[in-house]
Amino acid sequence: MTKQEELQTLNNKWKEECKCELKATATQAVPGDGNADAEIVFIGEAPGRKEDELGRPFVGAAGKFLEEMLSQINLKREEVYITNIVKYRPPNNRDPLPEEKSACREWLLEELKIITPLLIVFLGRHAMNNFFPAEQISKAHGKLLIKSFAGMPTKYFYALYHPAAALYDGSMREVLIADFKKIPKVLEKISV
Ligand code: URA
Repeated sequence: MTKQEELQTLNNKWKEECKCELKATATQAVPGDGNADAEIVFIGEAPGRKEDELGRPFVGAAGKFLEEMLSQINLKREEVYITNIVKYRPPNNRDPLPEEKSACREWLLEELKIITPLLIVFLGRHAMNNFFPAEQISKAHGKLLIKSFAGMPTKYFYALYHPAAALYDGSMREVLIADFKKIPKVLEKISV
């Protein structure tokens, strides 16, 4: 089986088995998408309205901004893998609850094990705090975080402000773009 096929099987399984209560209000599951052999995986928070409608992560305004930043470092969306900690849209885009995050956690971990990325990039504090609960995004953004977790295929993590939060905030936007541009150097440093 190719990694792409493994991901398909995994997503079919979790669409049936996931106990996340958001299933009741969401239109559909939004699994990760992109290159199953990617070196970099981007993890966001939860699907929004457009993602819920189309069943793909980051296809709204935040996704467009993410694609622009990827192109600035000569990457296409198809070359990386993009997913979320929660696979169903919270009503009115509220923050996901702790029980919703934990219901979707195993799905995310199994996804990561198939892809085995070198670097995991957190898009926003929810994604980062899911693995680094004590870190603050205002301090951790743009820094390489190194930590081994049981069952986690990499020990390298990098946190960014969430593109949706930075989209209309001039100073956060500048910081996010500057942090994003450091990704190639971070990759170079850890790929030795
Ligand atoms: N914001 C997220 O965190 N994830 C998406 O998929 C879209 C917007």
